[in-house]
Amino acid sequence: MIVMKFGGSSVGSAEAIKKTCSIVINNIEKQPYVVVSALSGITDLLISSAKTAKSGDMEALGKIKDTHKEVISALNLDPKIVDQELEELETTLKGIAYLHELTDRTMDTIMSFGERCSSKIIAAYLTAQGHKSSAFTGWDAGIITDSVHKNASYLADSYDRIAERMKNLDVLPVITGFIAHDADGEITTLGRGGSDLTASIIGVGIDADEIQIWTDVDGVMTCDPRICSNARTLPTMSFREASELAYFGAKILHPKTIQPAVKKNIPVVVKNTFNPEFDGTRVIESKVKGNTISGIALKRNVTVITIVSSRMLDAHGFISKIFKVFDDLKISVDMVATSEVSVSITLDGENGCRYDVIAELSKLGEVKCESDNAIICVVGDGIEDNPRLKGRIINAITSNDIIIKMISQGASSINVGLVVKGSDAEKAAKLLHDELIDSE
Ligand code: ASP
Repeated sequence: MIVMKFGGSSVGSAEAIKKTCSIVINNIEKQPYVVVSALSGITDLLISSAKTAKSGDMEALGKIKDTHKEVISALNLDPKIVDQELEELETTLKGIAYLHELTDRTMDTIMSFGERCSSKIIAAYLTAQGHKSSAFTGWDAGIITDSVHKNASYLADSYDRIAERMKNLDVLPVITGFIAHDADGEITTLGRGGSDLTASIIGVGIDADEIQIWTDVDGVMTCDPRICSNARTLPTMSFREASELAYFGAKILHPKTIQPAVKKNIPVVVKNTFNPEFDGTRVIESKVKGNTISGIALKRNVTVITIVSSRMLDAHGFISKIFKVFDDLKISVDMVATSEVSVSITLDGENGCRYDVIAELSKLGEVKCESDNAIICVVGDGIEDNPRLKGRIINAITSNDIIIKMISQGASSINVGLVVKGSDAEKAAKLLHDELIDSE
């Protein structure tokens, strides 16, 4: 059994859906479990439809309906197959307009319609090609989450439920990515791009031989090719490398995808729907051989906050007070560096120099907040046994007069993180790619 997950661009048009379905059919003897995203751009449209419905504007609904209807007609399918979902969507949007209220819980319901429609379309097309197929929602398939709307975490019980419900089917299953239920049966979503994670959870539940993530690029690259023109596809990478790279900005895999796969040591393969012959990238427990450094990732829009206080000298509990501020405000921290009297931390730019953050931290010391920075992350299993590498990393950047504002190494033995000014980020990533990857 294999899991084959297809992202939005792989199901973005009638042509793309035909390609996707032919890839599935070519793999039919491997017993595929198909996981799909919403049609390309639909989740964004659903989000804006919900926001604009609050003020009574229903225009986006028309676009959502038209996109689905056009694809259904180009595939010669029953024009009514997603009518029920589209009607339910309309009723929910009218509810938002009537109440002038949009909660996170309602937003999850609205976002769920994208995958609920795409799965039905793809299952109907596969059936029309002679392969009896059925659409399953994430909750039909057994995925259960906590109740944190818009960014729910799956519960470990999901695995047994999936095994019970999804093994030994007499149809080819097409499962909605991204969406699930909490214990009360409310719709939840796994965070933007969460269909990859669905694929991985399903893979563990059915004990798959492989989890394939089909996208529109040739695999995971050594760097974003828009920044490093000489970037290349990595044939293999380790689970550890893939997790670090995904978290720090390589957009190919959702950062949480690897976590379940590691549990049963199931390979995750990233492939291109529009170049299916190409091997892509195979993510496995430990790569057989490869570069010392696998990739350079860049996370933009990072805020650096520094708290300076002499009260920290020889005092215990000071750092925990700082972290309590972020915990209370439910903000996650990325990088941390400390000295005897100061602590610097980085946050996702969307939290920026928030007034409440600064006000709370100012009770603990003098606070400096700088937005528009970037984290450059150098990832490679070879870092741990290569004593000279860190010198090369720092030298490549500083010899080009780029200031490193923060550096983090040691927490993960395979990752060196550097914070630079946002305007220096691309140059720094390119220099590191030339020095560490291109020269090997
Ligand atoms: N459709 C969702 C999104 O656009 C989930 C996914 O595509 O993975 O974020």
